Amino acid sequence: FVQLFGKVVFGVDDEKFDAVLSAAKERVGAEKDSDLDAETLRGIVQKFKAICREHSNRPFPSNPDAQLEMAVRAVFGSWMGERAVVYREKEGITPDIADGTAVNVVAMVFGNMGNGSATGVAFTRDPGNGSRNLFGEYLVNAQGEDVVAGTRTPKPIDLMRRELPSSYVELKRMCALLEKQYREPQDIEFTIERGRFYLLQTRAAKTNAAAMVRISVDMVREGTISKEHGLRRLELKKLDQLLHPTLEEKAKKSSKSAVRGIAASPGAASGIAVFDVGRAKSLGEAGNVVILVREETKPEDVPAFYASAGILTSRGGTLSHAAVVARSMGKPCIVGTSDMRIDYAAARCTLPDGTAIKEGETITIDGSDGSVYRGALPVVEPRLTPEFWTILGWANAVKRLGVRANADTPAAARQAREYGARGIGLCRTERMFNEEGRIGLFQDMIMASSDAERRQHLRKLVAMQRRDFEKILGAMAGHKVTIRLLDPPLHEFLRTPAELEAEIRGMGSRAAAGPRGRAAKAHLERARELAEVNPMMGHRGVRVGVTYPEIYEAQIGAVFDAAEALSRRGVRAIPQVMVPQVGSASELAYVKRIFDGVAARKRAGGARVRVAFGTMIEVVRAALTAGELVAADASFFSFGTNDLTQATYSFSREDAEGKFLPRYLEEGLLGGNPFESLDESGVGRLIGLAVGDGRRADAGLEIGICGEHGGDPASIRFCHGAGVSYVSASPHRVPIAIVAAAQAALDGAGGGGAGGAAARGKRRRASASDKSAASRRGRRSAPASAKPA
Ligand code: PEP
Ligand code: MG
Repeated sequence: FVQLFGKVVFGVDDEKFDAVLSAAKERVGAEKDSDLDAETLRGIVQKFKAICREHSNRPFPSNPDAQLEMAVRAVFGSWMGERAVVYREKEGITPDIADGTAVNVVAMVFGNMGNGSATGVAFTRDPGNGSRNLFGEYLVNAQGEDVVAGTRTPKPIDLMRRELPSSYVELKRMCALLEKQYREPQDIEFTIERGRFYLLQTRAAKTNAAAMVRISVDMVREGTISKEHGLRRLELKKLDQLLHPTLEEKAKKSSKSAVRGIAASPGAASGIAVFDVGRAKSLGEAGNVVILVREETKPEDVPAFYASAGILTSRGGTLSHAAVVARSMGKPCIVGTSDMRIDYAAARCTLPDGTAIKEGETITIDGSDGSVYRGALPVVEPRLTPEFWTILGWANAVKRLGVRANADTPAAARQAREYGARGIGLCRTERMFNEEGRIGLFQDMIMASSDAERRQHLRKLVAMQRRDFEKILGAMAGHKVTIRLLDPPLHEFLRTPAELEAEIRGMGSRAAAGPRGRAAKAHLERARELAEVNPMMGHRGVRVGVTYPEIYEAQIGAVFDAAEALSRRGVRAIPQVMVPQVGSASELAYVKRIFDGVAARKRAGGARVRVAFGTMIEVVRAALTAGELVAADASFFSFGTNDLTQATYSFSREDAEGKFLPRYLEEGLLGGNPFESLDESGVGRLIGLAVGDGRRADAGLEIGICGEHGGDPASIRFCHGAGVSYVSASPHRVPIAIVAAAQAALDGAGGGGAGGAAARGKRRRASASDKSAASRRGRRSAPASAKPA
């Protein structure tokens, strides 16, 4: 009592008491606390009280009322203790959810009243795998603290069946009763006092993700809960564990991270650190497991991504090149480890403790929490259990939002489909130029001195892209694939002026005057010409399509050709072409004329395939003039909430996350990171307006969201309420998106602005058939129903 009171009420470090107790046990040769005689215990109590006195500057209270009052106050005080504050922060428990605690005062029972007494903890199901076995430990003649403190070795709960049979029966009865009552597996504490069973505490058991899923399925089959409840009880954040390799929990707990950064792409990997892109590629291709470590990465580094098991950068935020590409590939990635200094020349990096990781040394990265470890930590591969598939089946049956994937490669498309995606909501065509061998061709195209020369390079590039389109459309046969025309600024595909200047300087005057030097100078001139002060708001997206219409024309042609080739082979390809960064109906109409020109030529050449034409809404003006965009012939919208969030806040994600966002969150100036979970009152309002205006112009308009928010459960809930037709998520987030969409449907999530309730009502009555863009436009003014994707 004195020890626990001292710890809880006075905040005395446990170790001080333990030192006294251990010394006493050693002195009298006692193995267990219960072996100590009264005389020794009396001496220990005196010493304990002295420790408390020293710590609190007051005598140890001997009046029970005073003790009780102090204990009650201490429990209330614990609400603001560091542990509780951090826990609430991590679990997202805000004051509107819980803003205070309660204290129960109960009579004490004693598990240490001889061999007919005991105490223990038990889970009604195994929290490690979810199986229906009682899981726990107990100790005879002991108090609860003895079980958790690890001073005595408890016995497995199964032994209780023989040692304390009637109490075991009672425990089993309680477990069944409590599970039925709470409809959750329970984590309980109990004490047996002279043969009488007392339940001290029960709460919902914390389990790992695999167990959580299995328990849902088992409890539904046992008839304890409904399928709806089985879906609702799933914690979506936890499901992520099942979709990526993770670090073995025990190893992670017992290891200290060497440095930490921003968790940019989930999953864990161990491999040798390599600081050079070329070496990473060759070592990876030679069969080594490589972690690519760079300050930052660029499009031409992508071949090394394929050859690496994970990526670690010292700069950048969650939308940096490394982060975005790694996520799309499903590779673990950590960015912004700003306490780590990379020295490329010496092929090593210095850690905050002053030590260095040399190239070739094994490291482990955990992209789920941003920790970097030295050495190899054991990695557990993801498992999609049969129970998970059962859950996905139930979720698909109740969700109303469509779930598509953001995928730029055939492999990603296949994975997305396997995970349950029904369509691709965003295929970023610029990513397809990143592949090895293509970047040079792309640079030639940018460097072209005439339109004719540009068309010539484009033809070669687009032939490659056409083959990719075929594979991606084929992988998603029967479902829509939204292909976005080129988006980023052209200069991103060139080397930077600083790099080129350094190369020319390092050449020596003879080489600089030769062909290599002349090429580098021409490259430099073009890179300077294209460089922008603010690329995010500069010459990108549809602006590139307007100034270089031949690029969009060629891409649109490739989409038609790929789909036509597939349909001639009997494969049902359903492509949609989407224009990025549109801000006005006139821009969209400009691209539509190019599109119509290509379509007419392809039809004249015998093509029969249909391609839908639509726009992204990622510019504020587009959201505000959505009705006009439908009039300019958009047959679908897709919200690019990454850019729309940046534009609405007028800050870039990179700068925000790298510089001031943490402070904003600390100060409570933002409720959360708006790049992870949609800002409902700002960006959400724009979405609501655009959904409302768009559907007024075309009641059947297909509306999606393809920013990173498409894989975020809270944002998915919002989209459901806003009357959006589908969300598009990275392939590895597709299963979570499916369950999140089901949860939103079950909860009847609403309030997504103008399009919300009305569109939902309409969608419920919608026909399941998927009308073509042409027939939708025909119905534009009729009160037709919007349909789910
Ligand atoms: C977006 O802006 O949300 C989007 C999907 O486009 P990107 O991320 O490629 O800019
Ligand atoms: Mg965008």
